[in-house]
Amino acid sequence: MAKKDLVVGGLVAAPGTKVTGFLPVPGTDVQLPVTLVNGAKDGPRLSVTGGIHGAEYPGIEAAIRLAAKLDPADVSGTVVVVHICNPPAFHARTVYINPQDGKNLNRVFPGNPDGTSSERIAHTLFSNVMKGSDAYIDLHGGDMIEDLIPFSIVPGVGEESYLAKCRDLANAYGISYVAPSRTAGGNGTTGAASDAGIPCMLAESGAVGQLDEPSVQLHLRGLERVLKLLKMVDPSFKLSTLGEPGEITWLTQFNWTRSEWTGLFYSFVKVGATVKEGQVVGEVRDYFGKLMATIKAPVGGVILFMVSSPATSPTSPMFAIG
Ligand SMILES: [Zn+2]
Repeated sequence: MAKKDLVVGGLVAAPGTKVTGFLPVPGTDVQLPVTLVNGAKDGPRLSVTGGIHGAEYPGIEAAIRLAAKLDPADVSGTVVVVHICNPPAFHARTVYINPQDGKNLNRVFPGNPDGTSSERIAHTLFSNVMKGSDAYIDLHGGDMIEDLIPFSIVPGVGEESYLAKCRDLANAYGISYVAPSRTAGGNGTTGAASDAGIPCMLAESGAVGQLDEPSVQLHLRGLERVLKLLKMVDPSFKLSTLGEPGEITWLTQFNWTRSEWTGLFYSFVKVGATVKEGQVVGEVRDYFGKLMATIKAPVGGVILFMVSSPATSPTSPMFAIG
């Protein structure tokens, strides 16, 4: 039998076994909860990360349930699940950032072993978990100030044969909107994965810091279907209670509007709404209620993301249209 031990940091799972434990981030007090599933049969390596942002709970819960449900006797290949990638942010309940260094973990990949807390976490994740994977799924959702409808993001720039593998993952995952990222590579999880040639996608399900069952189920169905796509589990394997996904809308672009003002942002449209180019979608007022700017949609499309907090300052995201 060709199967080998699955080694992640100091954790070792022999063929046909599952190991849970902590992956320490050297030079910090951070310990990442991980599960290693070394299937009894040969197959690809899938890595899954939850909680890159600490208050995106449906993805964290889906990672926990995936890790608990997988039985190595029934798995072909190996699965590495990191349940919470950003424990400092999770416990401090910070939005976007790791309180240890004020950085957004999803902007510092592939990380630096001699850097700040977030950079070291990114390096530990990239070198131990993501590197060498045949597929990588990053689980996100709306953080505490983010309202959104579920969507997936796939690499949008690269070799066609590689991009097709990423689209296959998103197609299997089944979330109804899929948007391409605008640039090759980048400092996010999937940017680093795409630079390394690892087929990947990022899935967003859940909003405004809520842990709700439908959003968890959407992630679970996606993971279940990706495992089947990669032929890592039997077709009868069930992780979610949902039926088959509906039609997928492949968006041609993903357009973010960021604030240029310090004050209060009032949105006039809800996520999921279709807007026309030039349509007024909100306004910014100063602390005294004086109008600073009327915000119009720069392109027509579907509002996938809308900030739910009125606090706004230069460069903070306001909304995204797919
Ligand atoms: Zn996120």
